[in-house]
Amino acid sequence: MFCIKNGYKSINFSNYLNPEKIKLELDRYIIGQNETKKIISVAVYNHYKRLFLIKSKKILLEKSNIILVGPTGCGKTLMVKTLAKIVNVPIICVDATSFTEAGYVGDDVESIIQKLLHECNYNVELTEKSIIYIDEIDKISKKTDFFSGKDVSGEGVQQSMLKLIEGITLSIPSLVEKKNSQQIFNIDTTNILFIVGGAFSGIESIINFRINQELNFIKKNFELTDIINYTSSEDLINFGIIPEFLGRLPIIAKFKELSESEYIYILIKPRNSLIKQFCYLFLVEGVNIKFTFNAIKEIARIAVKRKIGARGLKSILEFVLLKAMFIFPSKNNLKLILIYKDVIVLNKTPLFIYK
Ligand code: ADP
Repeated sequence: MFCIKNGYKSINFSNYLNPEKIKLELDRYIIGQNETKKIISVAVYNHYKRLFLIKSKKILLEKSNIILVGPTGCGKTLMVKTLAKIVNVPIICVDATSFTEAGYVGDDVESIIQKLLHECNYNVELTEKSIIYIDEIDKISKKTDFFSGKDVSGEGVQQSMLKLIEGITLSIPSLVEKKNSQQIFNIDTTNILFIVGGAFSGIESIINFRINQELNFIKKNFELTDIINYTSSEDLINFGIIPEFLGRLPIIAKFKELSESEYIYILIKPRNSLIKQFCYLFLVEGVNIKFTFNAIKEIARIAVKRKIGARGLKSILEFVLLKAMFIFPSKNNLKLILIYKDVIVLNKTPLFIYK
């Protein structure tokens, strides 16, 4: 039996959470990505189990940080944030592009840990067990200048992050001053779970090339969703992640591009789904808004075509509902607005039904 304690409450893992339960919770908020959810549920469970076992000192268990690979807007950040809520630990999300080669001695890393410490209400024990998500990791990949052969981008930045991920003790001043002096906290990053993620756009051709070489035949027309599933550490290294960095991220979780039916679910199913959010905006002014299934299907179809992930659904809905949102606040006796397929496809005016 083990548990994690945080500032708010303590969770007894054996009664409360196990990988299956973590996945079931993730299912409530995240559509699809089933295999990835399993990988992450096990990884997070093991991470906190490891923290519990450290106290017994019988055997030294190494930390397993996670790298998320998948197209933009497919749920990487959502997954990490939801996970933090489930295990009830604080999390901060940062962009890899905000790191500099100055590395862990520079302001950047310190201010990240400072933010985390603040988030944890200056509870050092909690800070040292929380989660840091570093997004856009692909943007600091190693690129070599063709002519000089020199590193022109992220290798130095990746090098500078190694110590932070591996474990380093930093002296962090509090964000707020007390009686004109700043308290200093010593934070050890050894047990912080690091999750990094990126879209790695273009990695498909690297994977395709490797597979074709390995199998010694040319298999063309791989589906994109298939190909991301084959991502290996070798491909990530060829993309520009340096081996020392990748070595500290032993768990590779791959995210698929979302399908039309998954977009439909995203629109309607989650507790805070976009359609529910927009309906609420109308309802607070006493008007119901309904979407036909074909209209929702069209919205999903446009999202697939645009290839910008679920984030694009909001801009599609904003555009589609503009006419309705412009007109309805000045109409009296309006009862219902109906969004049908042609409102989406042909930009027709929605149907207004009066009391
Ligand atoms: P990224 O993969 O680029 O980190 P995000 O997780 O930030 O993408 O997704 C952006 C938004 O799109 C989320 O806040 C959420 O509203 C929606 N979304 C993306 N993927 C999913 C998914 N699989 N299930 C439910 N909502 C999703």
